[in-house]
Amino acid sequence: MSRTSQPDSAGRSVTVHAHAKLNISLAIGPRRAGDGYHLLESLMVPLDLHDEVTVAKSAGGFRLEVTGPTIAGVPTDSSNLAWRSAQLLATEAGLSEIPSPNALETPGGGGGISANLSIRLHKQIPVGGGLAGGSADAAATLIGLNELWNLNWPVERLAALGARLGSDVPFCTISRPSWVRGRGERVEPLAESLPPLWAVLILPGLAVSTRAVYQRLDADRLAGIARPGRKHQLGLLECFNDLEQAALSVSRPLAETFGSLEAFGTPRLMVAGSGSTLFALFDNASQAREWENRIRLEARCAVMVAAVLSDTSNCRRPHRP
Ligand code: C5P
Repeated sequence: MSRTSQPDSAGRSVTVHAHAKLNISLAIGPRRAGDGYHLLESLMVPLDLHDEVTVAKSAGGFRLEVTGPTIAGVPTDSSNLAWRSAQLLATEAGLSEIPSPNALETPGGGGGISANLSIRLHKQIPVGGGLAGGSADAAATLIGLNELWNLNWPVERLAALGARLGSDVPFCTISRPSWVRGRGERVEPLAESLPPLWAVLILPGLAVSTRAVYQRLDADRLAGIARPGRKHQLGLLECFNDLEQAALSVSRPLAETFGSLEAFGTPRLMVAGSGSTLFALFDNASQAREWENRIRLEARCAVMVAAVLSDTSNCRRPHRP
């Protein structure tokens, strides 16, 4: 995890890499009482594929700017998770509120340190693909603002705050290979690094609703239909996704792409989280590149190789006070 701080014309800015995530395994339990979220247990890893989030003090009020190759569908209003994470952190830290969209019409609206803020998201993570791009941006915003505002909160405290924004935000805040439990708020980084791994990511460009996938899983279980995802072994790693069959039955085009890639012989083909990204995991970079090229011809959609950040020393280190 890299983070750079530098002065710019308006003052200091902090840039944080917001890494995409993959669930190497994803076991889904029952809904828990209270909030109705499903209990899960997942081996989650960050990828070298990342957005860049730059936070800076700005003289001209609050601004959110989104650039980069994967901006289609990214909101630039207060529904953007990065904006919401800035609002949440400002409130919790006792700083003045990040302005609502209407207040933005008044330059400097809201006043105070937090309102005079610019957030720039340079997007490279595909949107709506189960790679946690929005959650990664929210997490990186928390990390960046913690530094910009000299809050000096430990990363665990930021992760706990992030849980209020989405189930993947705590993992994205820690951003190290981890066992993730609860609804996603319990993140236990691995003590040992994983072996080097590469994921071929297949991006069908489909929108699959996470909520709909969980609902399908519940309906199937209620009807007594057990439809486990495929299990794959890669060295000592067991790779599976309990949401796989639910995601494939929610989206017929996704199921068609999955079926054709499986028939093509793609090894260890999986759905990433609730989809729509599909991926195949390799322990060898040249094999991953070879399959990337073969799959690109077969799938006729965007395909890329991303390295798993398996080495825990490469990742964002928890801050120890
Ligand atoms: O927390 P997040 O906004 O990412 O979750 C999106 C939806 O996925 C939730 O509204 C919920 O329906 C479902 N979900 C769940 N259990 C989880 C995580 C997500 O039921 N552990």
